[in-house]
Amino acid sequence: MQQREEKRKKACPVSNKCGGCQFIHKSYEEQIQVKSTIFRKLMENYCKPEPMITMEQPEHYRNKVHAVFGEDRRHNAISGIYEQKSHRIVPVDSCLIENKKADEIIVSIRGLLKSFKIRPYNEDTGYGLLRHVLIRVGHATGEIMVVLVLSSPMLPSKKNFVKALRTIHPEITTVVVNVNDKDTSLVLGEKEQVIYGKGYIEDKLCGKTFRISPKSFYQVNPVQTEKLYAKAMEYAHLTGKEVVLDAYCGTGTIGMIASDHAARVIGVELNRDAVRDAINNAKCNQISNIRFYQNDAGKFLLEMARQGEKLDVLFMDPPRSGSSEEFLKAVTEVKPNRIVYISCNPETLVRDLKFLVKRNYKVVKSVAVDMFPFTDHVETVVLMSRTDR
Ligand code: SAH
Repeated sequence: MQQREEKRKKACPVSNKCGGCQFIHKSYEEQIQVKSTIFRKLMENYCKPEPMITMEQPEHYRNKVHAVFGEDRRHNAISGIYEQKSHRIVPVDSCLIENKKADEIIVSIRGLLKSFKIRPYNEDTGYGLLRHVLIRVGHATGEIMVVLVLSSPMLPSKKNFVKALRTIHPEITTVVVNVNDKDTSLVLGEKEQVIYGKGYIEDKLCGKTFRISPKSFYQVNPVQTEKLYAKAMEYAHLTGKEVVLDAYCGTGTIGMIASDHAARVIGVELNRDAVRDAINNAKCNQISNIRFYQNDAGKFLLEMARQGEKLDVLFMDPPRSGSSEEFLKAVTEVKPNRIVYISCNPETLVRDLKFLVKRNYKVVKSVAVDMFPFTDHVETVVLMSRTDR
């Protein structure tokens, strides 16, 4: 026990307070072993998973980095993370899993505050301006977005501030001010003002370009995401003739990557902003055989069943809570030949597989992809096919 604590502290001095990296005391090989075993056991009744897809350099993979700003007792600016289950700020300058450049930018911003007379926000008194900084990095493009989350819209000498920041970090391509004047634990508020550049960055995945706005959902580990999507495509085995549904499609990544190899792709997603990004992304990539719908995936698929629509391949990538029974029932009515189930929670995955296996589907193959090294999260892809054909 004590040895484990020492290993933790050595790898990261604040890991106990942060709680983000549950496996930081393990070597990477051990982490993979543990995750593989968890998945293999869960899949026991269905199939033996392929070897886990690991990461060559498992550090500094996060392309989205957040820091909360505040003051210490002497009113010096501090930045870092909230201590687990509290609103106490733990100062952090560098993190084992975050993009290095992003961490450096956060430290530079903190260093500029005094000379620009920008006070960090104090949650107790409500005084001060800078609440959070969010950095997003385009892995393939190198574009960098800085989001300054302020308690009010007025950033003093914003042009000079951007100039000073870009002198230190010329690779910053856009700076956005986001206003969060609410007493909330959400980082980003409603209002936004672009103060430098386009207001978004772009990144490339599997040959397609994606626009990332401050609030867009985008996988945090781009290196592993490419491997995850490539595996999903391999399992789908598209020939160019299929009708494909990308359910829980987010900003449309999976469906767009599939579109080159399918006759027609439909994407369905609940979040309005994500659907807007998806439509935009399809346009930018000149994809004409894809359509996105904003709806609950279950309701949408049920409607497809009612209309007697045909579906060959279903990609589904639900949130941690898994799919709904309504959705799964609709699957058994529409009867796609193949289902590629992508999941970030193997427990709800297995629950949903069980439902489908009782109703004319079988599990063909599966694999876990290490998307979140040093944490206990396991990402997986499973291929199912119909048994009644
Ligand atoms: N496939 C995407 C996003 C997966 S995250 C990618 O790889 O980037 C899961 C998505 O499911 C989120 O975008 C969330 O908004 C969406 N979602 C959650 N509940 C939903 C529901 N009931 N119907 C449709 N989409 C839903």
